[in-house]
Amino acid sequence: RAKQAGGNRVEVALPVGAACGVPADGDEPAVLAAVAEDQLRLHYQPIVRLADRRIDSMEALLRWQHPVRGLLAPGEFLPAAARAGHMPLLDRWVLGRACADLAEVRAALGRAAPSKVNVNISAASLETPFDDMVLDALAEAGLPPHSLRLELPENAELEALATASPRLARLAEHGVRLTLDDMGAGSTNLRYLSTLDVQGIKIDRGFVAGMLHNPRDHAVVKLLSDLGHGLGLRTTAEGVENAEQLAVLDDLGVPYAQGFHLGAPQPLAAVRRLLRARVPSGTAM
Ligand code: C2E
Ligand code: MG
Ligand code: MG
Ligand code: MG
Repeated sequence: RAKQAGGNRVEVALPVGAACGVPADGDEPAVLAAVAEDQLRLHYQPIVRLADRRIDSMEALLRWQHPVRGLLAPGEFLPAAARAGHMPLLDRWVLGRACADLAEVRAALGRAAPSKVNVNISAASLETPFDDMVLDALAEAGLPPHSLRLELPENAELEALATASPRLARLAEHGVRLTLDDMGAGSTNLRYLSTLDVQGIKIDRGFVAGMLHNPRDHAVVKLLSDLGHGLGLRTTAEGVENAEQLAVLDDLGVPYAQGFHLGAPQPLAAVRRLLRARVPSGTAM
């Protein structure tokens, strides 16, 4: 059970014995301790507009600064958190922090600040009243809804999305942007594009990784790029790791890209330095 206590502070009632220690893999209450002990961090990865190579927006990516195991990536703790039913709590924390961070960058950098922050929302949250959660987070940070882009997971069941659809529509009416993450991987259903108020797609990095050598991967990237143009969607290629891949994406007319070659996920302070320079780093970090 968690109670909102203003801003992105979340008070968590911990089960007895859950506080800290050395959580083994799959120690499910551990992630609640991470919230309570203020060990969660957000890193931000620039999303670059290829026309001018400028940073357009940034994606918030969750990290756990673990006292013993060091900085953990989402793959190391989100599966256990999801099994324990804690994803809505984590998503709420991320939304609060990401909105507060964008508000702060905006106050400091003005027009050099990114226009939006992208936040990943889990399939589990889509089955909750997440629209209120999202609008609350925006209001607490004093951000207009068009400052936020939600990345919808491709692993959400179609039924869950059908249930979520009116809430997504409500958010879209407020101006929150919606984009489909990891398009082409797994079971992404094209029906999402005709039934949800989605304005963007992100091409899964697996296709970008393969497209220089595998003509089929190249064909999939081209297909998704053409689909994006045809439907008037904002298309972003994920996982760009080198200049050759960037050249192919330029060629295909993909408008936005993200990847280690354009900027790795990094703490907010580092992104702020990049933004002050108003150009992406252009090199792997
Ligand atoms: P995603 O949303 O598709 O995020 C992109 C992932 O690709 C990130 O991994 C990022 O670090 C990685 N990446 C970026 N550029 C490159 C590149 O050039 N090459 C390669 N190989 N990888 C690249 P990360 O941070 O480990 O996150 C993994 C997944 O965990 C995310 O995939 C997302 O599904 C989930 N996730 C991360 N943060 C959150 C969060 O705050 N909330 C929720 N619900 N899920 C999150
Ligand atoms: Mg994402
Ligand atoms: Mg993705
Ligand atoms: Mg992914």
